Amino acid sequence: MKVFKFGGASVNSIERVKSLAEIVDSNQSDPMVIILSAMGKTTNALEKVAEAFYAGKQEEAIQLFHAIKNQHLNTTKYLLVLRYNACLEQLSDFFTEIEWLLHDKPVRDFDYYYDQIVCVGELLSSCIVSHYLNEVGISNHWIDVRDSIRTNNNFRDADIDWDITTEKIRTNVLGLITATNKIVITQGYIGSTEDNESTTLGREGSDYTAAIFANILDAESLSIWKDVEGVMNADPKTYPDAVLIDELSYTEVIEMAYYGAQVIHPKTIKPLQNKQIPLYVKCFLNKNLPGTLIHQKKNKHLPPIIVIKENQVLIELKTQDFSFVGEEPIIELYQLFKKLHVKPTLIQTAAISVYVCMDNKSDKIEQLALAAGIQFDVQIEKGLSLLTIRHYNEEVLNTLSRSKDKVLQQQSTETVQVLFR
Ligand code: ASP
Ligand code: MG
Repeated sequence: MKVFKFGGASVNSIERVKSLAEIVDSNQSDPMVIILSAMGKTTNALEKVAEAFYAGKQEEAIQLFHAIKNQHLNTTKYLLVLRYNACLEQLSDFFTEIEWLLHDKPVRDFDYYYDQIVCVGELLSSCIVSHYLNEVGISNHWIDVRDSIRTNNNFRDADIDWDITTEKIRTNVLGLITATNKIVITQGYIGSTEDNESTTLGREGSDYTAAIFANILDAESLSIWKDVEGVMNADPKTYPDAVLIDELSYTEVIEMAYYGAQVIHPKTIKPLQNKQIPLYVKCFLNKNLPGTLIHQKKNKHLPPIIVIKENQVLIELKTQDFSFVGEEPIIELYQLFKKLHVKPTLIQTAAISVYVCMDNKSDKIEQLALAAGIQFDVQIEKGLSLLTIRHYNEEVLNTLSRSKDKVLQQQSTETVQVLFR
């Protein structure tokens, strides 16, 4: 069993869906699960629908959704002939579900509606691709992943119920595979609660779904097909000298993702590492390129790995009565992070202050400042950038941080982080 995951960029044009079919076709000898993301920027567009709906701008929400609908209908029209009607019928069911919802008034919280609306992106793309593959002779089964991925109701960042998910994936997937139809196509990023409410696993979560399937099905490998050559040591858009890394350890990738590298969703590695399943990051623009292999073995010859996280906020928490920052306030602070689902990108503790750096999420910052304000004087600075260099040397560090207006720096033998304005 192999698991393939195709990201949004690999299904955002007719040509790309066709090259996806070629890639699948040349790997048809083994049973395969294919995990798909929503097409191109669909998830962003659906976010706008959810926001308009929740803000009470019903007309606007419906219009925005119509644009998404038309885009998918156009793609279907260009891709399908024989299966056009069958596909249309399936798409219409998904459209109707959302349109019904948009005609109501919101009575629950935003995150709930977000997931009910945004989840449709993956359903639409996977449906179109599945019909297309069937039409060109690549037999496959389409399944609704919400029947297999069971989560809690922590909408927008739902946690997997591994026991139920394991049982469901095994039954739903293995039960379908036959000698003449060995391919199962399904959606990344989404799941469902025990009450059949749709959930999402966090933005870019399709990689994680692919890893869950790979783990549960004991896949021989997972391949993530992207629009880049493989994993680079820096973003080539910012660093023209960026180089491809041909081999990386699970540990290195988990660290890179943790610091904000946009390589792979941070949750992806654990399910793979736990079963020692190799991960290939491959380029769908040229399937013959070697890409990057991620596995247990440590690569001793890594170049400095550079990650920049923009739009960071520094919160300085200073004790009000000049007392030291001891265990008690720290414990409370971490409990607060847990409660608000805040994941700091950097923490530094000094004698009477704690510095917390995090992504700029206004509602969370406000709640955090309010709650921490009982114990601490709170100061907030926005608009910062966090530079992380793994395997740094002084030369790279100097070059990258020389002209910067530094706010904070944290350094270990392996990693240096610089927060700057
Ligand atoms: N479509 C979702 C997103 O754009 C999930 C994914 O692409 O992995 O975040
Ligand atoms: Mg994606």
